[in-house]
Amino acid sequence: MNIIRHDFRSDTVTRPSAGMRAAMADAEVGDDVFGDDPSVNLLEQRMAGLVGKDAALFVPSGTQSNLLALMSHCGRGDEFIAGQKAHLYLNEAGGAAVLGSIQPQPIAHEPDGTMDLAAIEAAIKPDDSHFARTRVIALENTFGGKVLPTAYMDAVAEIARRHGLGLHLDGARAFNACVKLGLDIRDFAATFDTVSICLSKGLGAPVGSMLVGRADLIATARRHRKMLGGGMRQAGILAAAGLYALEHNVARLAEDHRRALRLAEGLARHAALRVIMPETNIVWVEMDGALGERLNAELSTEGIGVLAGRYGQQRWVTHLDIGDDAVDAALALVDRFFSER
Ligand SMILES: *Cc1c(COP(=O)(O)O)cnc(C)c1O
Repeated sequence: MNIIRHDFRSDTVTRPSAGMRAAMADAEVGDDVFGDDPSVNLLEQRMAGLVGKDAALFVPSGTQSNLLALMSHCGRGDEFIAGQKAHLYLNEAGGAAVLGSIQPQPIAHEPDGTMDLAAIEAAIKPDDSHFARTRVIALENTFGGKVLPTAYMDAVAEIARRHGLGLHLDGARAFNACVKLGLDIRDFAATFDTVSICLSKGLGAPVGSMLVGRADLIATARRHRKMLGGGMRQAGILAAAGLYALEHNVARLAEDHRRALRLAEGLARHAALRVIMPETNIVWVEMDGALGERLNAELSTEGIGVLAGRYGQQRWVTHLDIGDDAVDAALALVDRFFSER
């Protein structure tokens, strides 16, 4: 395997900075399963306050956070509605079905990433013993780096309220959306009963996500977290990284967005690349499959990490450990690749 010098594969690859490591080393800790860890308690209070919800729960991953949310909204045999490409439906190993006995009802996405409102409403089951009981609608924002409009989230919320359903937001990158929109996360998250937010992506923490929401749902999630094996002991070492991230790494997400745009503009100079202009920190690039294979091989040989899908699709993600030098190096390599063809 080639050594990756500039890693654009994901914003999960960030390593904790010296400042973050110092905060972790200095963290006050206790047994969090007993509720005794002051750093975890502080992080949970701070996050709940920031998002404007009753309570928050610190969990090992975004996957567990989404699963806990679904298990708090739904019982065995209930159903959740989510997009066909939603992370919590497509990319979480079927956990809701396997571990929660919860049935997914996926809905196709429109080209802009939203789900058709009439299709959502049509999928809500009437009270009839033939059907699973629909309990919650889940949205994701940002979605593949795209910011879905708040008016769309409000419209889905209106449907959820009218049918007495819960509303969950997979906001793994919610702060990217808020920085882009210039919106307080309180306002962004206002209509949701539960919100999941990753600390370990653009915010740069090594581990951790938060589930934030209504007190009764978070209390249920806390029970389920223990059941799923997510109860951690002196987790304050990790919570300290989250506290550091909230303080230092939110506003700077704008830098990642700026670099993603510069990267996209540079890549788009090549006619063979179809570049989808980024709204936040993720750039999608499509090209002919055979060309993609050659370009991916060249990038890999030269230590530039990208996620390469089938059929010539690439994903480039900017983050804390991608500076202007990394963008320059990547663009220079792609320029050279095309000039030598
Ligand atoms: C990364 C991600 C998750 C899951 O987070 P993990 O910590 O990797 O389990 C969930 N939803 C979205 C949208 C994500 O990008």
